[in-house]
Amino acid sequence: MILTFDIEEWFHLLDFDATRSELQWDSYEIRIYDNVERLLRILDETNSRATFFIIGWVAQRYPDLVRKIAERYQIGTHTMNHQLVWQQSREDFRNDVVSSIHLLEDITGKPVECFRAPGFSIRESELWALDILYENGIRYDSSIFPAKGSHGGIPGGLSNLQREGYILLDFRKLQQSPELLQQHPEHIIEFPISSHKICGKDLVFNGGGYFRLMPYPLIQRWSKESAYLLSYIHPRDLDASQPMLPGLPLSRRFKSYVGLKSAESKLRKYLSDFQFTDIRTAVEAILNDQKPNHQE
Ligand SMILES: [Zn+2]
Repeated sequence: MILTFDIEEWFHLLDFDATRSELQWDSYEIRIYDNVERLLRILDETNSRATFFIIGWVAQRYPDLVRKIAERYQIGTHTMNHQLVWQQSREDFRNDVVSSIHLLEDITGKPVECFRAPGFSIRESELWALDILYENGIRYDSSIFPAKGSHGGIPGGLSNLQREGYILLDFRKLQQSPELLQQHPEHIIEFPISSHKICGKDLVFNGGGYFRLMPYPLIQRWSKESAYLLSYIHPRDLDASQPMLPGLPLSRRFKSYVGLKSAESKLRKYLSDFQFTDIRTAVEAILNDQKPNHQE
C-alpha cells in the first residue's frame, strides 16, 4: 500500500485557463503551509509513510517547507511549473525536469529519484519522457493512470501498451517476480495509480477527487481486494476552507469541491485501516525478499 502526495497549491488546476500558467499564481492566497502541516500531522498520527512529489514553483518559494518534509519523508519531483507533458517539446520537458531535480537536491541535499507528471500526462505517445527521466537520475515513476483521465491516461494501463521496448518495469510484476529487478537494471520502476476492474474497465477510486467522491465502505472493500494499492492526494483535497476560484466551470467546481469537508476524516480512517508506506520502502521490501538468507 503506497501513499503519495502531490505538493502543489489549491489553484494549481490544469483544466482552467485562468490558472494554467504561472502569471497569476503569485496573486492567490498561500495555503500550502497549513495544508502540508495537516498532511504531516495525519502521517504522524496514523504512523504512515508517504512519497511527496513537489513542484519546483512551491520549492522555490518555500524551501523551508521542502526541508521539513524531506527531513522525514521521501521526496520526488512533480516538475517545475506543473505543465502537461504532451504540451511540451522533449527539450522543454528535459529542461524543466532537470531544473526541478537540481532545485530539490540543492534544498534538501538528497538525491531525487521519483517523478510524477502533472495530470498523469504521460500517455502512450509520451513514453519517450521515461528515457529523459532515466538519463537524469529518476528511477521510480508514478505517472501512469490506467483509465482515460482529463489530461492523460493509458486505458487498460501498462498491460495495454501496444509494443514492447519501453524502459518500464511494472512494480506489480516485481511483487510477483522480484528477480526481474536484477534482470532489468536500467529500467524505471513504474508505480501506476491503482484501480478496480468493473466489467473489464479500470476504475480509479482511491486518489484525488475519486477518493473524495467514493463512499468509504466501497474504497475499503476494493482496497482489501487489491494486491497493489497506490493512492494520490493533493493538499487541497483536504482543505475545506479553500477559496472558490471565480469563473470556474460547474464541472470543475464539482470535481474540486465535492467531499472536501469529510476528506480529512476519511483519509485518517483509510490510513488507520491500511498500512501505507512510501515508494522507497516498498522497493526495499522487495529487495529484502530477494535475499532469503540475508544475515544482517
Ligand atoms: Zn499536480
